[in-house]
Amino acid sequence: MDKFQRIFENNEHWVAEKLKKDPEYFEKLSKGQSPDFLYIGCSDSRVTAEDLMGVQPGEVFIHRNIANMVVSIDLNVMSVINYAVRHLKVKHIIVCGHYSCGGIKAAMQHADLGILNPWLRNVRDVYRTHKEVLNAIEDEQARYDRLVELNVQEQCINVIKLAAVQEAYRERGITVHGWVFDIHSGKLIDLKIDFPTILEDIMEIYRLD
Ligand SMILES: [Zn+2]
Repeated sequence: MDKFQRIFENNEHWVAEKLKKDPEYFEKLSKGQSPDFLYIGCSDSRVTAEDLMGVQPGEVFIHRNIANMVVSIDLNVMSVINYAVRHLKVKHIIVCGHYSCGGIKAAMQHADLGILNPWLRNVRDVYRTHKEVLNAIEDEQARYDRLVELNVQEQCINVIKLAAVQEAYRERGITVHGWVFDIHSGKLIDLKIDFPTILEDIMEIYRLD
């Protein structure tokens, strides 16, 4: 059986498995969602959000794109964040990057990648912002890994720039987290970004109240 056909068989097994544990599983699922987490990650097929977080349907609202970017003119990610914050009232927003990210690697190379150029330019902007730190790292692999981390940090800051997030931060203490998935070990790394300090620094410019 080819891989495509197998998907429908897998689905039947999955449905049976869920119903065996709870005959009303899908009835409950259909009633609505109230996830605590918004996860913004990379589209990379190896970084499956629910699997690596060990969460079930209904627990995490998800947006994925190439290199886990939060771009202010991207109507898609902006809609996801606004809906998650204002309507679903998530408690945590997570931006999760990963080592060996093809999008980040591509942005480190000088190549014309067509429609990907404007998208990856946002990663190149992160590089430019942190050029001194990055250029001081001699080992190319280490520099690549650091750009993955700094990109997560910058995308977290892009999340904080949004009015909906600032409002939720003031009103109910929503938190933003920067993570990296280490594809070599399978481990999730919390970058423990010092947001109070960063916030203080950027709010002078980006505060929207
Ligand atoms: Zn990636």
